[in-house]
Amino acid sequence: MAVKKKYVYFFGAGKAEGKGTQRELLGGKGAGLAEMTNIGLPVPAGFTIAVEACEYFQAHGQKWAPGLEKEIRAQLAKLEKATGKKLGDAKDPLLVSVRSGAARSMPGMMETILNLGLTDKSVIGLAEGTANPRFAWDAYRRFLQMYSTVVVDLSKDVLEQKLHDLKQRAHVEYDHELSAEHLEELCGEFKSFYREQTGTEFPQDPWTQLKGAIGAVWRSWNAEKAVTYRRVEKITDINGTGVNVQQMVFGNMGDDSGTGVAFTRDPSTGENIFYGDMLFNAQGEDVVAGIRTPIKLADLQDRAPEIYDRLLAIRAILETNYKEMQDIEFTFERGRLYMLQCRTGKRAPTATFKIAVEQATKPMLPKAEANHLLKAKLLTKTQAAAATKPVITKDDAIGRITREDIERLFYPVISPQVSREHLESHKLAQGINAVPGAACGKVVFSARDAERLAADGKAAILVRKETSPEDVGGMQAAKGILTQTGGKTSHAAVVARGWGKCCIVGCSGLDIDYDAGEMHVNGTPIREHEFITLDGSTGTVYSGRLELERPEPPAEYFTLMGWADQRRRLLVRTNADTPEDARKAVEMGAQGIGLCRTEHMFFATRNRQLAIQEMIVADTEERRRDALDKLLPFQREDFIGIFEAMEGRPVTVRLLDPPLHEFVPKTQEQAEDLSRETGIPTEAILARAEQLHESNPMLGHRGCRLSITYPEILEMQVRAVIEAAVEVRKRGGKVSPEIMIPLTIDAKELLLLADRTRAVADAITKESGVRLSYMVGTMIETPRAAITAGRVAEVAEFFSFGTNDLTQMTMGLSRDDAGRFLPDYVDVSKTAIFAADPFQSLDREGVGKLVSSAIEDGRASRPKLKIGICGEHGGDPQSVRFCHQVGMDYVSCSPYRVPIARLAAAQAVIEQESQKAARRVPARATKKPVRTKAKKTAKKTTKKAAKKTARKVVKKAAKRTAKKVTRKVTKKARKKVRR
Ligand code: PEP
Ligand code: MG
Repeated sequence: MAVKKKYVYFFGAGKAEGKGTQRELLGGKGAGLAEMTNIGLPVPAGFTIAVEACEYFQAHGQKWAPGLEKEIRAQLAKLEKATGKKLGDAKDPLLVSVRSGAARSMPGMMETILNLGLTDKSVIGLAEGTANPRFAWDAYRRFLQMYSTVVVDLSKDVLEQKLHDLKQRAHVEYDHELSAEHLEELCGEFKSFYREQTGTEFPQDPWTQLKGAIGAVWRSWNAEKAVTYRRVEKITDINGTGVNVQQMVFGNMGDDSGTGVAFTRDPSTGENIFYGDMLFNAQGEDVVAGIRTPIKLADLQDRAPEIYDRLLAIRAILETNYKEMQDIEFTFERGRLYMLQCRTGKRAPTATFKIAVEQATKPMLPKAEANHLLKAKLLTKTQAAAATKPVITKDDAIGRITREDIERLFYPVISPQVSREHLESHKLAQGINAVPGAACGKVVFSARDAERLAADGKAAILVRKETSPEDVGGMQAAKGILTQTGGKTSHAAVVARGWGKCCIVGCSGLDIDYDAGEMHVNGTPIREHEFITLDGSTGTVYSGRLELERPEPPAEYFTLMGWADQRRRLLVRTNADTPEDARKAVEMGAQGIGLCRTEHMFFATRNRQLAIQEMIVADTEERRRDALDKLLPFQREDFIGIFEAMEGRPVTVRLLDPPLHEFVPKTQEQAEDLSRETGIPTEAILARAEQLHESNPMLGHRGCRLSITYPEILEMQVRAVIEAAVEVRKRGGKVSPEIMIPLTIDAKELLLLADRTRAVADAITKESGVRLSYMVGTMIETPRAAITAGRVAEVAEFFSFGTNDLTQMTMGLSRDDAGRFLPDYVDVSKTAIFAADPFQSLDREGVGKLVSSAIEDGRASRPKLKIGICGEHGGDPQSVRFCHQVGMDYVSCSPYRVPIARLAAAQAVIEQESQKAARRVPARATKKPVRTKAKKTAKKTTKKAAKKTARKVVKKAAKRTAKKVTRKVTKKARKKVRR
């Protein structure tokens, strides 16, 4: 017989059936209530209906799971026994709250019903039992109001209006000035309205009330605001909410009662103070609703010192127990304190770092305060000792920081002062959140307009159907970029990310009319020079100017990043194309350049764009060489700037890799422009453009194929790199150039180009008399290069995985177009084929296999092969973990992602160590959970050991196949490659 499923978990009188670790089962609130009960905090009794019951309800046309009703009735009976009261009892009624609580916090997004159990009869009992009729009628009117709007969906406004009219009739300003009689009258009005609207009486049976309330909380999982919140917060891994039914306690029983919300540290600044707001003689919603102005929590110290001390102790107990800053809700009823909720507190980006660093280095409580609470018997000795030590380790602090924490620190954001309502009413459209942060400015539809506006000191948002390198000047000048098409790794997004510039792509709600200087955004017309605001973190477009903020990183950010640097093995480089980017990246902690996309260097000015276009459209070698001669000085100057900015750190320069369609003039106007500047007839340019047209440019005449056909391009670029390096050396600087050949498909192809590279480079160094060492390597971007990596490594001194193209080619998905349908592959409510977008987070199963086998084969041929990654995945934490595991030497990413990669690299080491330690501990050696012991052992494992192991893994792979080790390409190998 199948084991009966348990859906309902009781808590109360110091014992809970659930545990704090069961968030997925009980939801965050339910798990918190169970944990607080189990650690002896005063929690009103109740029960939690597990998330699975909600999932069943959603999946079965809003039917209750079999056996659930019976289970709830049994748990309710237990609750009635524990409290000594009966739900709906006419004399001394038990009242309950019914609250939502999902596994991930969704504050305010779902429904709550309070004071359930009140009826026409029990309200009298409550009035008599408390000797406070006003309190009883107020509780009833609140319940009628909540139930009518939440469960039955009656108009909130009509009920509010009735309350408002009553206050006018009674000549009072505030709710709490209404008398018991007034409130009784209001209850009558609410019930009449209920009858009019529903054709039935307001339910007087408490069980009917409870069933209705539970169903309403479940339904609120799919309310628009909840759905939107989950989308914005990327909550895709949970499918329902828990429901908590709990005995009501009242903060509005008089002046010895009150309620409040508090944080165990200041959530805005991170300061180690007990921070919160409270109200005397009030219910919880009054604190958050803003009807009355709450007082500071600290004021409680004077007015109710015993309650305050009790809260101080609970603060320490909770934070040391959870090892995280907590957000708590409490109520005290006639001098007795109750805890209603605890959860990890949301905090401002700067506070995240301050809290993590202080928790890892400083005690939570000063000794004197701990002693005071110990003497007052509010803390035990163990609790006081825990509170006077740092709460977490440095590794815990590193492990806690997420990529979003870092991103939010650097990008401007829409000010939290802008209300949710304001945001909702100004929302225009939704696109793909390509680069986080926010930007606000005037709409322009051309790159030139963006530049013009920027030159006048005005903020522009460049709106395009798509962007091309021709737009880059405008993209740089604009504060933000919005495109109708494209995905996260389209070049527009890649370029914008490199600058940390807010960018939304694939916004299909745009209908742009360039000629009319207007667009329709989901029907709303927006003319050029009207203001819009972009939230690149969520991909949302708003009308008008919303206030933005750019926070400065706090000192604790630098401290924590320093800890991370000590722990990581992987080096972190950057993808940078200009000296400014390079300097920015060094500031962010980059240890070299892993990818300098040389074609991007021609985006910067019109002269450069023309020069490269002239080179591309040249139809003879002579003309091409002329055009290349114009490009040489630009490139050399740029490389000098980059080498100087990098001060001897390695700089990987990739030879030209332009998908031709991005550089060939497309329109008559563009051709005429180029013709004017170069003297080439317009017709000739258009004819050449026609000739160069490719059906599939991403798989076209790209990368090193270009240098195979036109070796003079390679020669010019190598000359520029090496001459720049020689020049910097002559000026007394240090340089470490690495020349990288893109999109290799074959070892012989690479050998031809590497030989040519060395010939040019060696001739220059010889002539200059400067001794210069440089490396020649390749990108592994095609599946064939990965599969033949053993042979490719006989030529290449280093590999850099270009996982944007490698993903594109392995999956057969266009990186520029997949954004249109890939979201369906990731969405849990649709197909959930992939856990994440493979262009953002490396697909370990497919692309990852190619990467790891290429590393193994490559190191078998050349054990000291330097290996890195420079695709967009190099800044994605999950992918960085993978790069660590497969033994890469470095990751490279855009400057603003460098700190994310530094942190992820450290987290990878910490995780690996603790996994290893966990494997070393035999499970039966201890009664404690293995995890606890594993953590302790992990702490002991030194950085040295980690390094050693990583090296071992790599060496082992290499040894397996490598017989002979040659750093240089041997003659034999050359022959083999030449076949
Ligand atoms: C890549 O393909 O991963 C890469 C870094 O090159 P690009 O994005 O310039 O094609
Ligand atoms: Mg590429």
